[in-house]
Amino acid sequence: MIQDIQYIKTKANLIRHLFIEDMEKHLLTFDQKVKQHGISVEWVENEDDLSTVIQDCFEKQSYNRICFDSSIIPSDFKEKNQRFKTISIEEVLSSSDNIENLVVEANFGIVEDGSIILLNKSTKSCFNKVENLHIILKINNLVIKKSDLELLLYLYQYENNSYQFPTDVKIITAPLPKVSSKPTYLDNQSYEVNPIKTYLYLYDGGISKILENPILRESLFCINCGRCQQVCPVYKQTQLFSPIYLVTNNCFEENQRTMQLFKNTTLCGNCNDVCPVLIPLTDLMLTEMQIIKNKHSREKNIDLFKFYSKRSKMNKINNRFFKYFFVKKHFKNNKRLLNYIQQQKLPFFNIENLQSKTKNE
Ligand code: SF4
Repeated sequence: MIQDIQYIKTKANLIRHLFIEDMEKHLLTFDQKVKQHGISVEWVENEDDLSTVIQDCFEKQSYNRICFDSSIIPSDFKEKNQRFKTISIEEVLSSSDNIENLVVEANFGIVEDGSIILLNKSTKSCFNKVENLHIILKINNLVIKKSDLELLLYLYQYENNSYQFPTDVKIITAPLPKVSSKPTYLDNQSYEVNPIKTYLYLYDGGISKILENPILRESLFCINCGRCQQVCPVYKQTQLFSPIYLVTNNCFEENQRTMQLFKNTTLCGNCNDVCPVLIPLTDLMLTEMQIIKNKHSREKNIDLFKFYSKRSKMNKINNRFFKYFFVKKHFKNNKRLLNYIQQQKLPFFNIENLQSKTKNE
């Protein structure tokens, strides 16, 4: 049992750093290795590209059933194509019929041997019913060596200060075999086995844009464990924003969601404390705010200063009377968050309190 978790986190941070700093070179190596295994590889820039490459795989002119077991679903997929029918994960799991297309999102890729790692995929039991398996892998979710992955998986499964490996890990190193239900011989002993057509999509989705920024680049270390979201008071109350979502999805964009989060974040720093790969999320948010605010007037920069000082002020206010007016002023636009903060009897930035609440809910 490794005791010093901070040491492991530092090592994980270094592993991510080494990959991200030389990402292009590693991606090219990975691409070659995967192709050597007989899996088609496509580089896709955004949802539109993804939609197009998936549709190119449709063999029939009509009635291609497709199931998305992925958070990345091209929003205009339906409107653009009438040749398919989407079916839910539940339908796929309960049906004995074959389906034409299944889209899953991989968690990691290993550069050294070109393997693709899927964690906790409910549809994995259906792979034998699928004609075309489409695997999406975000381009920052690779590790250089197998041993790197072991360490990250150890950190990935974090629960109440104890760490363990995920139990549901599927490793794909070649197209999976599809066993035909029809026996090839009369004695029923042999069955026809064909490889499932397997496509890997290396998905950019704005990642290369983040990579260009030497500071925000650290957000690409993320291994999608979800811990920052679990301890985020804003997410708990709004169910809308998580710290890593802010940093990675709204980068440089002054859209409504970004501005809402900037208004609501308490900059409490809980996310920094739990991140297994030591991403300084609060600092990244502030940097991102600064980039956006710098595009604007001096007046807007004064707003930024207010954001900076919000956390330190809140930590210092012990007087309930002042606290009441302070939070009212800063969070008046979000009633749920305002009520939540006002009801806190213990110090607001108390991560243990927040974690035990999460556990009990
Ligand atoms: S940023 Fe959040 S989701 Fe990503 S590794 Fe850190 S805690 Fe996990």
